[in-house]
Amino acid sequence: MKNFTDRLLQIIFIAIICLTSIFVYKKCNESSHQLPEYKILRNFTLTAYCPCTICNGKYTGKLYDGTLIKTAKKICNIIAVDPKVIRMGSIVEVHGILYRAWDVGSAIKGKRIDILLDTHTETIEFGIKKGITIKVYE
Ligand SMILES: [Zn+2]
Repeated sequence: MKNFTDRLLQIIFIAIICLTSIFVYKKCNESSHQLPEYKILRNFTLTAYCPCTICNGKYTGKLYDGTLIKTAKKICNIIAVDPKVIRMGSIVEVHGILYRAWDVGSAIKGKRIDILLDTHTETIEFGIKKGITIKVYE
């Protein structure tokens, strides 16, 4: 009879461990749902621009909504996108850096992203990068 009791206690003990691990597993999965949702988009072409007249024409020093680039750059990194592909205001991760989609451009259509840099020399050095995978947090 003592053996039977021991066995029973053992089974109860194992059952408690199993239930606890299921509970912990569920908890972990629940918390992962709280991470921001993002989608991965592939095959983008990257170029760069700066606040100058060559890059912006009549929008020199300003974003499409009239915000001064100088002011906006203090808040976050900025990219120009095609709003049909990436919603304005989205946070976009490119090469591990986060940018805010805060501008548009006449040449920025489809899977194109224009990264706002400080100087025109930097934009020329940046050149064109193709086949880039990005993450978009909306
Ligand atoms: Zn420029």
